[in-house]
Amino acid sequence: MSEIKIIQGDITTMKADAIVNAANKSLLGGGGVDGAIHAAAGSQLLEECKTLHGCDTGEAKITRGYNLPAKYVIHTVGPIYRFHTPDEDAKLLAACYRNSLNLAKAHNLHSIIFSSISTGVYGYPAKDAAKVAFETVRTWLDENSAYEMNVTMCAFEQGMYQIFQDELDK
Ligand code: ADP
Repeated sequence: MSEIKIIQGDITTMKADAIVNAANKSLLGGGGVDGAIHAAAGSQLLEECKTLHGCDTGEAKITRGYNLPAKYVIHTVGPIYRFHTPDEDAKLLAACYRNSLNLAKAHNLHSIIFSSISTGVYGYPAKDAAKVAFETVRTWLDENSAYEMNVTMCAFEQGMYQIFQDELDK
């Protein structure tokens, strides 16, 4: 079975078939990792995003990576924490990871690096979000064991990396 890897750093510098952007519903860019991805990919990314007509919470859409080292960007919209019940937040966050992986597989991609969806401006507590992320990815890898998918979880800060390390050791 494929193993999950973890890495710390700026996701816009990382090479993979796809990186996953913590986007907002407009898909037209924003702050945090979204802003960094748009800045690094160049204006063609925004042009392609404009053709997608936004994205619902928990869903995912794919574009090319343009000037990024990654071939594709999967844009997923995490839940804004406490906008829903905690159970609904967890379900929506899990859907982000699952739908991103399904989309990557549908495009025959075999390596994917996730940013930590919803744990910045959207306020999802980091430990709870990491638990949902690892559980969902592990379940997906189990259910798709015949398909080779290399999954990396990217932490921007040291604290998040430590939380990922704790999840990996479980
Ligand atoms: P959201 O709106 O979904 O909360 P944010 O972009 O605010 O999205 O934050 C999501 C996560 O991305 C946070 O953990 C933040 O530290 C991280 N992050 C911010 N910039 C980068 C980057 N350049 N590379 C990787 N992760 C980043």
